Amino acid sequence: MRVALLHDPRFLGHDTGPGHPERAGRLRAVVERLRSTGLWDRLEHLPFGPADREAVERVHQPAYIDRLERACAEGQRHIDCVDSAICADSASIARFATGAALAGVDAVATGMVDRAFVLARPPGHHAERGESMGFCLFNHVAIAAEHWLAEHGARRVAIVDFDVHHGNGTQHHFEDRAEVLFISTHQHPATCYPGTGHAEETGIAAGAGTTLNLPLMPGGGDGVYAEVMDEQVMPAIKKFKPDALLISAGFDAASDDPLA
Ligand SMILES: [Zn+2]
Repeated sequence: MRVALLHDPRFLGHDTGPGHPERAGRLRAVVERLRSTGLWDRLEHLPFGPADREAVERVHQPAYIDRLERACAEGQRHIDCVDSAICADSASIARFATGAALAGVDAVATGMVDRAFVLARPPGHHAERGESMGFCLFNHVAIAAEHWLAEHGARRVAIVDFDVHHGNGTQHHFEDRAEVLFISTHQHPATCYPGTGHAEETGIAAGAGTTLNLPLMPGGGDGVYAEVMDEQVMPAIKKFKPDALLISAGFDAASDDPLA
């Protein structure tokens, strides 16, 4: 199997300040592990550039993109909430991270590789159309899904989000759309940020039935994940029959991660 890795050291330059949990060390740890296990040399390292504005605007309001760029240029330290820390380069690095996701889609959709792993930051799944939330500036996975639909002729796209937090931005962008299935496993919203992602949220209008929230109680182990993947996630994907699959791979459900 040919697997691409989309990564660039410039992702480390998104400076969130001292003590912030979303820090460059997250990516350094993954790179070190890939190198020490020898996986690094077996991956196809593909080049990419920043996403163009048209692609980002499929998900985000132009006024938000402008506001983020201005906040960075003016030297502000966060946008919309204190969680979403920024530095002067954050808007351009976020655009570059979106570009990594789009390049991953291009590589898989054209058959260049079988799978693509995007190792990028800042993260994206909390970002709403016109607002940053929870460390997230641009919603890369939503933009990637729109790109697959618009540029590669995908008719049905499934997004599985296994981050420990609910992917509110992704859900809200697609919740009224029948052609995108959004599945999220996360710690129960009554006990965890951002407080959305109840099982009762199943999609609206034309998208009714294409949102599947699977909230889990705190403290569940691998067995809980295996069960929910086997009994709920996989059957839902098979029933939907997507021709493209995207995964929001947040690793903060790991038992040693202090966030949840
Ligand atoms: Zn998370």
